[in-house]
Amino acid sequence: MEEPAAENAMKIDLRELEEGESKFAFEQDPADLDIQGDEAVFTGEISTSVTLHKLSEALSAVGKSTFTIRADCARCSEQIERPYEAEFSFVFQTGKPRGMEGDEDETLIWLDEESDELDLGKEVRDYILLEIPINPVCEAYESGTCPNLAQVEEIEKAASGANETDPRWAALKQVKLGE
Ligand SMILES: [Zn+2]
Repeated sequence: MEEPAAENAMKIDLRELEEGESKFAFEQDPADLDIQGDEAVFTGEISTSVTLHKLSEALSAVGKSTFTIRADCARCSEQIERPYEAEFSFVFQTGKPRGMEGDEDETLIWLDEESDELDLGKEVRDYILLEIPINPVCEAYESGTCPNLAQVEEIEKAASGANETDPRWAALKQVKLGE
């Protein structure tokens, strides 16, 4: 994976981080976070706001990223563009114990003691990926007012019930066969 472009990276200089609360905001091109999908397309930038809490050696972050995705509605195929929100919170720690795997708890992030920099981008990226809907649907579908809804359900019923025969027809067939 390529490193995001430096000027857009979600990086925080830990040496300059003050005690208490610090707020940061980032605007990033999806390409900088390496998350341009095949099925869904990000339109515009990914906005992230994050608040860091530093208390002596303890460091944590809470925030959210907002982004807009363009995709085809999974039900009526209409092109849709909808905003999504990915919330995240992390606790950072140094001194990772030997032999311990880092990914048991996604919210716990081990910091490299040698590094003075915190790169939030790769952590936040995972949360954004989790929020991308697998089957996005249009608002009309969600609220039940999709004009194509009846038609779509008809087609789906026909497709899923292709092997099922209406019991009345089955009975009729029996009668005909019996003749
Ligand atoms: Zn739809």
